[in-house]
Amino acid sequence: MRIDQGIVMLSISTQILGRTDTVHPVLLWDNHDIVLADTGFPGQTKQLYSAADSNGVDLDRLNRIIITHQDIDHIGNLQVLVEGSSSRIEVSAHVIEKPYVQGDRRLLRFTDDAIARIDMLPDHVPESFRKGLKAIMLHPPRAAVDLVIADGERLPWCGGIIVIDTPGHTSGHISLFHEPSRTLIAGDALMVRDNQLWGPDPETTLDRQAAQASIVKLSSFDIESVICYHGGLFRDNVMERLAELATEGV
Ligand SMILES: [Zn+2]
Repeated sequence: MRIDQGIVMLSISTQILGRTDTVHPVLLWDNHDIVLADTGFPGQTKQLYSAADSNGVDLDRLNRIIITHQDIDHIGNLQVLVEGSSSRIEVSAHVIEKPYVQGDRRLLRFTDDAIARIDMLPDHVPESFRKGLKAIMLHPPRAAVDLVIADGERLPWCGGIIVIDTPGHTSGHISLFHEPSRTLIAGDALMVRDNQLWGPDPETTLDRQAAQASIVKLSSFDIESVICYHGGLFRDNVMERLAELATEGV
């Protein structure tokens, strides 16, 4: 979905145990750069290509990837995109997330417990799914982080992208503010559910107090549209809703 000139929200879906899970990476471009913010679940590279293509963007020209945080639905196609590219793709992430994205540390959610729970999935879950999931958890995609980006930094790509530290969901989580379109790429710092904007899913939020402080911080930006990785676009009186969330708590 086109948000403004040079920025589209992609929508890519996958079936996970009979449930459809849709995520929303964001593609930004100008004459110099094509930037992808987050990369979907493992195995969605083709979908990314066709989603970009249907928006008139050739992903073979992708030269930058920004990762909002380490979770598997965000880094899923990172390695394939980087290794499959004939030209160099520069990968950016927060310093806290860097060792996870690079595979130097095990992803926070892929604990021994989480891996052991695969064997406790109900009987109807196919063996192929268990095996696939275990393989991904033991050997998640990885890529070198070339550029560490930090709070307040203005990336001079695609008209200007401000990096905003929004810890909570993970401690190195970042959001991005695209200046020309006044679009907040919220990652998992916010979500859209039932056409309404909400704080992050409490169940997957590692530090709820930090997550709330991040919402307060986001409410100080002059935002017209919000793209949430889960739930997609929200552009209905964004500032009013953010102010509500900032005072009410999530
Ligand atoms: Zn996440």
